[in-house]
Amino acid sequence: MLFGRKHKNPIKIADKNVQEWKYTTCGYCSTGCSMEIGLNPEGKPVATRGVAGADVNRGKLCVKGIFEHELFESSGRGTEPLYREKHFEDYQEVTWDSALDKMADEIKRIQAKHGRDSFAIVSTGQIMTEEFYTLGKLVRGVIGTNNYDGNTTLCMASAVSGYKRSFGSDGPPGCYDDFDHTECLMAFGSNLPEQHPIIYWRLKEALEKRKFPVIVVDPRVTMFAQFADIHLPITPGTDLVLLNSLAHVIFDEGLADQNYIDSCTNGYQEFSKLVEEYDPVSAAKICGIDEDTIRHVARLYANAGAAMSIWTMGINQSTHGSDGVCGINNLNLITGNIGKPGSSSLSITGQCNAMGTREWSSCSGLPGYRALENQQHREEIAEFWGVDKSFFPAKRGMTMTDIFPAIETGQIKGLWLVATNPMTSMANSARIRKTLEKLDFLVVQDSYRDVETTQYAHMFLPGAVWAEKEGCFTNTERRVNITKKVCEPHANSKPDHWIFSNLAKRFEQGKKMIFPETTAEIFEEMCELSKGEGRILDISGMTHEKLEQQKGIQWPFREGDEKGAQRLYTDGKFQFPDGKAKLLAMPYIENNEKPDEEFPFWLNSGRVVEHFHTRTKTGKIGNMNKYSPTPYMEINPDAAEELGLENSKYVRLVSRRGDAVVMAQLTHRVPRNMVFIPFHFHECVNRLTLGLLDPYSRQPAFKQNSVRIEHIDQDLAARLNVEMRTY
Ligand code: SF4
Repeated sequence: MLFGRKHKNPIKIADKNVQEWKYTTCGYCSTGCSMEIGLNPEGKPVATRGVAGADVNRGKLCVKGIFEHELFESSGRGTEPLYREKHFEDYQEVTWDSALDKMADEIKRIQAKHGRDSFAIVSTGQIMTEEFYTLGKLVRGVIGTNNYDGNTTLCMASAVSGYKRSFGSDGPPGCYDDFDHTECLMAFGSNLPEQHPIIYWRLKEALEKRKFPVIVVDPRVTMFAQFADIHLPITPGTDLVLLNSLAHVIFDEGLADQNYIDSCTNGYQEFSKLVEEYDPVSAAKICGIDEDTIRHVARLYANAGAAMSIWTMGINQSTHGSDGVCGINNLNLITGNIGKPGSSSLSITGQCNAMGTREWSSCSGLPGYRALENQQHREEIAEFWGVDKSFFPAKRGMTMTDIFPAIETGQIKGLWLVATNPMTSMANSARIRKTLEKLDFLVVQDSYRDVETTQYAHMFLPGAVWAEKEGCFTNTERRVNITKKVCEPHANSKPDHWIFSNLAKRFEQGKKMIFPETTAEIFEEMCELSKGEGRILDISGMTHEKLEQQKGIQWPFREGDEKGAQRLYTDGKFQFPDGKAKLLAMPYIENNEKPDEEFPFWLNSGRVVEHFHTRTKTGKIGNMNKYSPTPYMEINPDAAEELGLENSKYVRLVSRRGDAVVMAQLTHRVPRNMVFIPFHFHECVNRLTLGLLDPYSRQPAFKQNSVRIEHIDQDLAARLNVEMRTY
């Protein structure tokens, strides 16, 4: 059929001669789309397609997923382990044995001289859950440093912290199916169509069947804001003021669910007293949303039969990130919107397996949501792994954002980075560069040899990418799904769990412990550990086979269960000892860098649909780079006119930290006093950011910085741009 193309050639999709399709889960974002990779007769991955029967995506994929098979042979892949004595000498290829021997020796040397915690480890949200578990076993049970974290501190730490403070445990309570039941959806700092296109499609599908109000809170007129019924263009960093004010109206007008508050929560008195101060007239002056709109939104949300809130980095990446999450939870608790269809707090996670690291990596504690601070948990894991229980610290160590300053002060001497690229992802990149140069020993383990951070390393270990190995990811809605091995690891790269287990064997303690060889065996070990009365993160009924059969299963899924649990807290019982959630009274304290005379623009940042995080992967995929080749800066046309700036001209942005050259794009998406830059590009937005930390989650405030704009020689800028951004 030609579908209106009578006078044009119909589109013909090239026949890729696929002989076999293999089941995987997308390795980019946390939506968790089920997909199949098509192999040609030579066993080469040549195509990707969505899985029609999968609950999450129902056959659909976004533009990143569609080209994911191109990853396996993309440029810049690591081929052999590399080593050099000193920074900036040439790397030499070495064998795996000699690389791992050297690495173990260096870790032992540094720890013997400076103490166990002087060697730090920062991992990722990209590897398989079984690999996270194995890394945690190695770090907590063998190496024994307490300065161990994941790069998820840059994206989801505030959500984790907020869930723990409100509900007593991490774990998103809701699911995508809630879109089919909700009567009001409020999205905070989430540009769903670009960040999580298939979740957005699920929402659109629900809206086509049944109309309900969608409210988007975002300083920028994002794609999602354009699609919303109500857009609240909030002043950056003031979400807590808006949330406290919504609660004020709900109490003031008698719209709260008092029965739910009385039976399921603590803290009502203190909370209701605090929000008395946040009347809409006063709040409007701080958060920039007018008083009538605050009242209207509060009524809409509280009067809906079921209401839900979703959020992403606009909330999390803030000095009030954790408070913002608790503010959203407060809103849902006082309106009885937790644990019912269409009623939820649902953080939309970033990386494909950011949830897996939260659950099983032991970064913030011990596996399966166990805490280092809990003696019983320490004893359980010590016995299970065969480790002396006194080997575990009784308190969590540094987060990623504290590890880097500790390198500056000399407290940390060695660092191992697993699939993370701080030279591009951390705030204030000039400072990060100097920090990395101070290290006695830096190991970068990554699928790509050319990640920017490798320039500062002593050792590079090539890891297999995504479906070159088998294992699980957990998505935003707690759904564990499996990726089958599609092809052999590139060149002499190795699965990350192989690297962890083989490093463990080079330590006395590691020789005494069991590190299973296959991810299926590792998964069985995790299932065993997840059992227990009252444990919400129970996956004991899962196996790799069942995950493929059901195309993903949500936890908890206990032995004997037929189906996974769609929602948490359906019985109104939470994870605190008395079973009640906490309403938290949180005053707003202004502490961000703000525009002033010298730096008059807010600097905002976010994603574009074609790229993923630091472009380590998408920067190599032809179509992704063609659609989105360069960083740009959105600027309001009125501001541009005042500055004498034209569309598509290069400008120099300057902050108190550094400068960056970008191309100006004139658009009314941003207000007069704000510019926006995609965060994916190296030598760009993070040359400018300050990254003040949230006091609870230690997550940086990437989105609240100020800059000024300067004119620049266009020829020089164009040359710089090409040199700096192109792979
Ligand atoms: Fe992959 Fe996310 Fe796109 Fe789905 S929405 S195909 S998980 S990148």
